[in-house]
This record gives sequence, C-alpha cells and structure tokens, in this order.
Amino acid sequence: MADYEVPELKEYPVVPLPREGVMEHLSPFLAKPEFQEALHYPGKKVVVEGENPKYILVDGWKEKALDKMGDLLNLYRGLRVFMDSCVKCGACTDKCHYFLGTQDAKNMPVARQDLLRKVYRRYFTLAGKFFPKLVGAVDLTEDVVNDWYSYYHQCSECRRCSVFCPYGIDTAEVTMAAREILAHIGKGQKYSNEIISKVFTIGNNLGLPERALADVLEGLEEDVEEDIGVQVKFPLDKKGADVLVVTPSADFFAEPHIDGLIGYAKVFHATGTNWTLSSKASEAANFGLFIGSYENMQRISMRIREAAEELGVKRIIYGECGHAWRVGYSFLNTLAGPFDFLDPNYPVPQHICEFTKDALDRGLLNIDKSLNDDMTLTFHDSCNVARASGMGPEPGGQFKIPRAVIKAVCNNYVDMEQGTIHDETFCCGGGGGLLTDDLMEIRVKGALPRATALNNVVKNNGVTHMAAICAICKSQFTKVLPYYGFTMDQIVSVHQLVSNAIILEGQNTDDDDEAED
Ligand code: SF4
Ligand code: SF4
Repeated sequence: MADYEVPELKEYPVVPLPREGVMEHLSPFLAKPEFQEALHYPGKKVVVEGENPKYILVDGWKEKALDKMGDLLNLYRGLRVFMDSCVKCGACTDKCHYFLGTQDAKNMPVARQDLLRKVYRRYFTLAGKFFPKLVGAVDLTEDVVNDWYSYYHQCSECRRCSVFCPYGIDTAEVTMAAREILAHIGKGQKYSNEIISKVFTIGNNLGLPERALADVLEGLEEDVEEDIGVQVKFPLDKKGADVLVVTPSADFFAEPHIDGLIGYAKVFHATGTNWTLSSKASEAANFGLFIGSYENMQRISMRIREAAEELGVKRIIYGECGHAWRVGYSFLNTLAGPFDFLDPNYPVPQHICEFTKDALDRGLLNIDKSLNDDMTLTFHDSCNVARASGMGPEPGGQFKIPRAVIKAVCNNYVDMEQGTIHDETFCCGGGGGLLTDDLMEIRVKGALPRATALNNVVKNNGVTHMAAICAICKSQFTKVLPYYGFTMDQIVSVHQLVSNAIILEGQNTDDDDEAED
C-alpha cells in the first residue's frame, strides 16, 4: 500500500528516539508561477533541463527573504517574542504527532522553530551578528531554504505543542511566517496556492462552477425526497433568506461530507429556517491561514461579506470545517467586518453545531436516537476548533457543543482517553495545507497518535465510528485510516448522525416501507 514504512500501532504512544534527517527527502510540489502571481507572490523562474522544468529562486532571494522576515518581525510582535523566548526546556519535544510518527529530530517543535530562529539570530540580534557560533546562528543559504521548505511543510499548524510550552510559544505562527517568507522568494506550495487561486477565479477550492453547484444541489433535493418522501430544500443564492450558510465545498460532493450537508438541510427544514447557500461564497475554507498570508485570508473572507450583503441575510452560519471556523471565529470580524448589517442578536459567525444544539434544546427536532444504534461513536476534536477558537457563549463550548449534539442523536458514545482529546487533541495529520498526495507519507505517519487512541477505544469499548466537524479531518481519515487497519467509512460527519436520527414531518418510516413490501 505504501513504499515507506507505516508505523506500528501499539497500545500506548511510545516516544521514539530522535533520528537525523529521516524525513528530509519529503517536500511538497512547488506552485507554478501563474498561481504564485494570483496570490501576489513572485512567479519563479523556470529552467528547462531535458524534459523536466526546474524552478529556481527569484533574483536577490536572500535579501528578499531577510527583508520579509524583518517585516514580519516588526508586524507581529508575537513572532519576535517566540524567536527570543525559548529556553530549550524540552517540554514540547514529544508533543508533535509528526515527530511521534517519523522520529525525525527536526519534527520536534523546538527544532522546527530553530530552523527559523538560527537565521533570526544571525541577522536580527547583536550577538548573532558578531559571534554567530556562540549563539547557534547560521547564514541563510539555499540549503537552509530547502530545509525550511521541507520541514515547515511537515507541520500542520495544529498548535498542540504550544499547549505544553511554558512560554506559550506557538510553532504554528513560526511555520506560517516561514511559509510566507518562502512564497515571497518563489517557493510557494502548489496545493495551497492553486486552491486559493481557484477560490478567487471560481469561488471554491474544488473549482466547482455555479451551474455545477446548482445541479449538485438539485440532485440532492431529488435524492433526499426519494429517500424520505419529504421535499427538503437546498437553496442557492436565495435573496432575502435569513441565514447564509458557508460550508466547505467538500460538503457538495464527497462522503461523508455530503451526508453532513443533508443533516444541516434537514435541521433547517425542521426548524422552518429560511436559509441559503451562495455561489459567490461557496467555500468556507480559507487556505490563506495555512500559507500565513493575512492579505489572502482577507481577500477570501471578503467574499463572505459581499455574499451576505448581496443576499440581504441576517445571520451567517458556518458548516463543518475546522480551519474555516478558526478564521471565522477569530478573524472574520477583523478581516471583513463590521457586520453591523446583520441581526445583532446572533454571534457573527455562528457554528452549525450551535444552531442544531439550540434547536435540540428547544425541542424543535423530532429525534429517534435508536436510528444510530448500529454505531458506537467517539469524537475527534479538530485542532483549529479545539485550540484556536471557541463555540457558543461558554468557555470550552467547542468541546461540549459537538459532543452534546452527538449524544442527543446517538445512544452509544465513548470518549477517547484524556491527553488525546479537547485541547490536547492530536491532529488528523492532514491539516495546515498538507492534505495533498505529494505529502502522503507524512500524512500517514502523522496520523499514528490519533490512530492509536482510536484503536484503544475500538478494542476496549467497542467503538465503531469516529465523528468529526472538519472537512480536512474527514478527508484525511478516509485516506489514512486504512493504513492502520480501519475502514475508510469509519469516519463520519456529526450532522450525518443528526440526519440519520431526525424524523421530519411526513417522512417515510421503516413501517411505511414494510407496508409497501
Ligand atoms: S504546531 Fe502541531 S504540527 Fe506544528 S510542530 Fe507543533 S505539534 Fe507539530
Ligand atoms: S516547550 Fe517552549 S520553551 Fe520549551 S523547548 Fe519547546 S518551545 Fe522552547
């Protein structure tokens, strides 16, 4: 199945001995010049050697990289503090899933930070300028740039290490800064940059044009009616709707994502909510976060504001997408606000789990939990929801609300062990712009800690399925779970569970089916 060694599942995570350079061969594909330029980065020069184009760094790359680093250090005070404050206590060393899965010494968070820190010391500190060897400072060379490109794309910006750092050093911020510098010297990442370009030109990550999206939604209406005998609507660009739903484009076509979208629609149907999707904002994901570009994050976020204004909605609700929720929860108002044209009685934005939980609490949904009795569930806290945002009015709502929704629609629920959930959750291994086939090796290896925790509740508690509220987590687990002996359908959407259990007025039931037979 893989031409690399897949780590062995053990009962408990084993902290491995560090090894030098075992993952230095792995780097993502480079973005082509046209995709660089679409994001306002320089296109790379291309040299043709035989049949293979070879990309080289832009002219004056060293000065440009250092200028950019200086800009970022001045702009983000936190970055300078992170560069200065590490005391090498070692608390973070065994906290990264990529280190646990690969043993590569540079995948220890402190070592990953040091790749940038050593250059920072050389050019931005007095001691590093005059006594570089004494303070571990190094010159910026092409080898260093290559190391950055490799190891800053073996970090999913999950922030787990920062939870354990006594100084709160956030490696994700260091990774974002490094990627931003790399993009400015022509070393942007193909996967993220192409996807962002598609959002600008077509409206979503998948490049699904408006007509195709409308067809998909019409097809879904027919499928749901055929299935349950109720006309559940999936409105698109409906002017005057109360609620604009922005959701990851994976929700429009792939399993288990699409089952979640059906769940949202059934909840809106049951609650009589006047809602719509938007062809302009047909993507909740915001890969500007992954590449560390606030400029591109803002450009992507503005589409949501424009769609909300054009449609005249009163509320914005986000579907199941982890990093989109982080950008929405933490940055949307700053990047695209003020949203003073929306109903002030609701948070901007609101999460679909908040909406469903509220409907459940108010008794608006007719639920038969036994319809999920063929499953025993656990819940995977997605990094960007768990560690970088909140949900609802209470602290820790991002942990409580999704679990409350699952427990309201399922009889059988078990949490994975402490230390692997809530704010200590392990990344799926595919976040932060790593969900691409050219990085499959690190994705598989980085999934080891989560697969270990899942395996324990499967063996000890009879868990059959794991639910998540993140499109990247769902896509990643669909691909990597089989490497650890699970099946791809063991990952489900939270609103897929809601969809299974909800009974709409006039809905066909099993009794009706039996009567027809
Ligand atoms: S942010 Fe996550 S992926 Fe990156 S070094 Fe820390 S633990 Fe590893
Ligand atoms: S836990 Fe924080 S201070 Fe300690 S080595 Fe890691 S980054 Fe440095």
